[in-house]
Amino acid sequence: MAVKGGYPILIPSYEHYSKIESPAILGFAVLQDLLNLARVNSLWPMTFGIACCSIEMMAAGMARFDLDRFGIIFRSTPRQSDVMIVAGTISHKFVPIIKTLWEQMPGPKWVIAMGNCAISGGPFAYEGQYAIVNGADKFLPVDIYVPGCPPRPEGLIQGLLQLQTKITKGTIDANRRAEKAARRAKK
Ligand code: SF4
Repeated sequence: MAVKGGYPILIPSYEHYSKIESPAILGFAVLQDLLNLARVNSLWPMTFGIACCSIEMMAAGMARFDLDRFGIIFRSTPRQSDVMIVAGTISHKFVPIIKTLWEQMPGPKWVIAMGNCAISGGPFAYEGQYAIVNGADKFLPVDIYVPGCPPRPEGLIQGLLQLQTKITKGTIDANRRAEKAARRAKK
């Protein structure tokens, strides 16, 4: 990762390409890396908050923390979004709505679980509770976890930068392919 003017810029290294020998594979790899480079510098999260953590998410988008400088701009429709930030407590009743929004987002798309509620149920994960889901990863393919109750905007920004790194390294694609193959093998 290069740092220019205080901001990280994700550029695939020359060494990365020089290890690939086949011209056909080289062309595909370069195209994929270029696409990923464009994607990470224009992540568009959906304007979507469930509980208190979403106040911190909103703060991250406002002038003081200014997510726009990373090309991260909130969109007000799932049709134009590629990142779902699950920010808040997830009730069982709300799960079908989250799933519908996720399915309406075009791929490739990614999920960030923001806050302890979205990671594990947070303060609502106690014996006998029946209304809250113990984490977004029970029904969504979560890529990044941002802990805290609530996490500060800097925490969310760190999570988004980690997501950019995972996308440019291609680890998310590899993980999703492995998950799909495991699901197929189970059938
Ligand atoms: S993690 Fe804490 S701040 Fe965030 S939604 Fe849950 S209770 Fe609220």
